[in-house]
Amino acid sequence: MAIAPVVNAIRVLERMVPPGQLLFDHHAHDLRGTRTGTGSLTVHSLGVRVEDFITWANQEATAHGLEVIPPDPHGRIGTERFRRSLAWHIARRPGGLVALAIQYGHLRTSVAAGYAARSRDGIHDLLDVETARATIDTVADLNAALENGLGISGPAARRAIKAAATAPQYTGTVITARQARQILANPQLAVYENPHTLLMCVYKRAKALCCHRGPKDTPSLDQCVPGCANIARTDQHAVGLRHYATALDQQAGRVPGPLGERLHDNATRLRDLADAHDRTRTTLRDGIA
Ligand code: SF4
Repeated sequence: MAIAPVVNAIRVLERMVPPGQLLFDHHAHDLRGTRTGTGSLTVHSLGVRVEDFITWANQEATAHGLEVIPPDPHGRIGTERFRRSLAWHIARRPGGLVALAIQYGHLRTSVAAGYAARSRDGIHDLLDVETARATIDTVADLNAALENGLGISGPAARRAIKAAATAPQYTGTVITARQARQILANPQLAVYENPHTLLMCVYKRAKALCCHRGPKDTPSLDQCVPGCANIARTDQHAVGLRHYATALDQQAGRVPGPLGERLHDNATRLRDLADAHDRTRTTLRDGIA
């Protein structure tokens, strides 16, 4: 399972190479054809391609009056740093840790083992570090927002506040791979933002309704079940719910019949959730912690 840009990139590569060949087969990609034998592009060639891509992207950006990729003060990007960027995006792409439920699990099992076996700082460690940093950022952002008067509701609100309170001890520190593993194993820090369902999952295995096939270490965010005791919602989620409800109503206005009615019903359900948040929300000033 992969996200759409990855699938699209693979489909493009499949059209560039003859059937049955490697996606980065050097015969198909090395147009000078100076190398003999089989195999994929070398690490050096891939590093050059990354630089070529930046040059091309900047030419296009300049032609269209867009922002260019600035010169890198640390020199060429190369495959090492490209991997680090990859890990950063996996941990933080829109949906944040939602992506991890899909892609990270896949990468860890399919790719990471191979990389990790070959180098001490394999992608396995990079993913752990970036995931831990994303987790700390999530709880640190929540902590700052709560201190600024953000309201929170839901059965897991108290646990979310407790997790947020631990943030200051981690912020600003450099996280090593070992510390990252400790952070990821800390059940108190299991806070996942789920923008698709406009809620925050404060994961506790015993309470999770999404784990039909036995307890797991991470929630199935793509199969979130309304009414789960791990749900918390903030004022920001309530705003998001109302925005989404308005968009559904607008869509419903253009769709006649049962489909339009269903869209209206969904909009009403989302507004009800936002209203329930407003009625039950609490803040740090209410002394919940
Ligand atoms: S069902 Fe519960 S545990 Fe699963 S993702 Fe939703 S809130 Fe988290």
